[in-house]
Amino acid sequence: MVIITLQRAKCIGCNYCVELAPAQFQMSKKDGKSVLLHSEEKKGFFTIKSKDESIFEDNMNAKNACPVKIIDVKQV
Ligand code: SF4
Repeated sequence: MVIITLQRAKCIGCNYCVELAPAQFQMSKKDGKSVLLHSEEKKGFFTIKSKDESIFEDNMNAKNACPVKIIDVKQV
């Protein structure tokens, strides 16, 4: 299982996560912040849990590229 979390309010809209993991991240045209697709929100943290382990590497790259460190990726 791969768990991805985005602390969305702090996003500066740099687009790196969208470039590196386009299957999970998309830019919002409304507020210019990244959207974690199909995620659930709880107290400002958006989370998805996926059984598709193949998404791990792309999302780790997004995590490492994010300049404000608001993406977390775990494999459990
Ligand atoms: S890499 Fe981080 S700051 Fe940049 S768009 Fe994605 S979530 Fe926002």
